[in-house]
Amino acid sequence: MIPMLDLRVQYEALRPRLETAMMEAMAATQFILGPNVQAFEDEAAAHLGAGQAVSCASGTDALHLALAALDVGPGDEVITTPFTFIATAEAIRYVGATPVFVDIDAETFNMDPAAVEAAITPRTRALLPVHLFGQPADMARLTELAHNRDLLIVEDCAQSFGAGAAGGMTGTIGNAGCFSFFPSKNLGCFGDGGLVTTNDDALAERLRVLRNHGQTRRYHHEFIGYNSRLDELQAVVLRHKLPYIDQYNRERRRVADRYDARLADLSVTPPHRDNKGTHVFHQYTILSDHRDAISAALRAAEIGNAIYYPVPLHLQPAFRSAVSEHDLSRTEHVAGRCLSLPMYPELDDERIDTVCDVIRGTLDA
Ligand SMILES: *Cc1c(COP(=O)(O)O)cnc(C)c1O
Repeated sequence: MIPMLDLRVQYEALRPRLETAMMEAMAATQFILGPNVQAFEDEAAAHLGAGQAVSCASGTDALHLALAALDVGPGDEVITTPFTFIATAEAIRYVGATPVFVDIDAETFNMDPAAVEAAITPRTRALLPVHLFGQPADMARLTELAHNRDLLIVEDCAQSFGAGAAGGMTGTIGNAGCFSFFPSKNLGCFGDGGLVTTNDDALAERLRVLRNHGQTRRYHHEFIGYNSRLDELQAVVLRHKLPYIDQYNRERRRVADRYDARLADLSVTPPHRDNKGTHVFHQYTILSDHRDAISAALRAAEIGNAIYYPVPLHLQPAFRSAVSEHDLSRTEHVAGRCLSLPMYPELDDERIDTVCDVIRGTLDA
């Protein structure tokens, strides 16, 4: 049995110190916006090279709060990718704006800047790129487009903690970067958690107020906000994992390198690295015309595998009314052929080879 993801090894390694720290945090009884939350925000900002980091309850909320704090709302169009987890575009809907889906680059699976440029209208307010599977989107070109047209950029960094792009780490290039600490992400906690990074102090202040009921001082509310805070106990977990994130990401790249080497002579397309930034391999995703046969063979061999994402957002009933007139054929082509293989920092060579042998056997059959 080879799982898609194994969280136990990391937990066991951190366990003694982590359990002590969690007990201490419990005994301190400062459960909401306590000292560990504050410390984690400072440490995360320093690690990422961001001016400020404001934590919240989830990655979905990070996107929602960032768009709300930037005053994106009804009448505004936000250009994004349909090849992502639904939360990316849900957040656009939460603030009453309109998601405009544009096609992806067939190799990187990230939003294609040429398609973005073609989709800009007078109503466009923001670009919402996703650094999909851990590979930074083409931020140099997106930033140029945004500057020329006075557009905002909100980065969806849910899969890219620690990935570098031209101009800095993902999350520090646009107006705001939105991170998720869902347990399966590269940096995950023991439940839900999220973070918004920004270099804009006024925006950070607005985010801090928004995540806490619009409260500027105790029981004084400037505007309607939300209850969206990171738990103190989750902050303890994240403070213990943050010092290892670069190592975890390096190990993910090691796993990817070995998959690349072992799959090189097979008729599958390994993930393309555009080398414009550092890929942190949240997922290792191949393309194959025989995707379903490979998936079935892996499942029969008790090897985890998953399709991220089988149905692009523009084909989801939930986005029925957002249907874009833009050509999304590359997205649909990729969605029909993509398959993600087991990926986690502790995945050893022997297991990687077993996965590749099963794929080889399927294609030879
Ligand atoms: C996981 C994820 C989110 C949402 O994060 P949650 O913490 O689960 O709310 C948003 N966007 C992408 C691309 C994701 O992978």
